[in-house]
Amino acid sequence: MSTELAICPECGASWQDGLTCQDYFYQMLYWENEYPGHGVVHHLLVLCYHLQHPRLYSAEIMPGVLKMLYDFVEGGVSPQEMRRSMRARVDSGKRDFKITARADSQGSYSHPVHWTMRAGDVVARGADEYIASVNLWARSMLDALRKSGNLPANISAG
Ligand SMILES: [Zn+2]
Repeated sequence: MSTELAICPECGASWQDGLTCQDYFYQMLYWENEYPGHGVVHHLLVLCYHLQHPRLYSAEIMPGVLKMLYDFVEGGVSPQEMRRSMRARVDSGKRDFKITARADSQGSYSHPVHWTMRAGDVVARGADEYIASVNLWARSMLDALRKSGNLPANISAG
């Protein structure tokens, strides 16, 4: 195995010991499965991981998922409420965009973002701290996105 330090091309994390951000993502999914109650932050895990690796999303969905992060962190919206309002939109046929990236449409940020917390940091804090860590991660991401001017105008004020 190479001892060279690799850097995540998307979130800028240093990959130690050959572990990538995706490995950390799987580790967190494993914890959610392993420990009762840890799945309570699953919606934030999925959002945070993808928003730090925006090429996994389509370009069209980016404003919508940024709004979701804002709604969860500062809007006090619960995952249940989010699911209800999304289902209503899908049922009414208003969802005319694709969530996942295609070759011709990948999410990105107009301004470089300096993340203060990444997937590996959540894992490093350990399984016992998992729920608190993911909440911190989401908070830190909204702050970093706001600071870098990447939030849509209607939610940037905070
Ligand atoms: Zn990464």
